[in-house]
Amino acid sequence: MTITDQMREQVRQRANFACEYCGVTETDTGGQLTVDHFHPRSKGGDDDLDNLLYCCVRCNQYKLDYWPTNPNDPELWNPRREPATTHFLELDDGTLYSLTITGTFTLRLLRLNRPPLVAHRLRKGYRAEEMRLLTRYRNLVKSLEEIHRQKAALMEEQRQLLKEQSAFIRLLLSQKEE
Ligand SMILES: [Zn+2]
Repeated sequence: MTITDQMREQVRQRANFACEYCGVTETDTGGQLTVDHFHPRSKGGDDDLDNLLYCCVRCNQYKLDYWPTNPNDPELWNPRREPATTHFLELDDGTLYSLTITGTFTLRLLRLNRPPLVAHRLRKGYRAEEMRLLTRYRNLVKSLEEIHRQKAALMEEQRQLLKEQSAFIRLLLSQKEE
């Protein structure tokens, strides 16, 4: 059995068009990514959707057909089974820090701290911070507008009050004259 176009499309959409190992997207790389057999076909893996991962060319190239064959062989992180946060911590400088043996091995095999990828993570972080600040700024402008509106309404109320006050005084004075 081979991977049909339909399966490929399913894997692609399921992964949200991003490499499930390193997170780069089709838009980042300017093209579609590859489909990887987590358990390589050459080592007995099948074409089940559960064994297929959307994977960038680099990660696929570094992963090759790794599969633990001896009891002491380290396991590779399976992004379909566990979230990245189980094995890695993303540091402020854009590098990944491994939290587990699987994390350390995966980091080394797939070179998840390769410089362009670190730069990519940093840029993504900056963009997220930029978006956060922009949203905060927009909310602040909205609050200011609301304050201005309330201030205008208050001034209008005050003007009305003054008008009524002078009408009242005028009334009092006219009664006194009578
Ligand atoms: Zn990748």
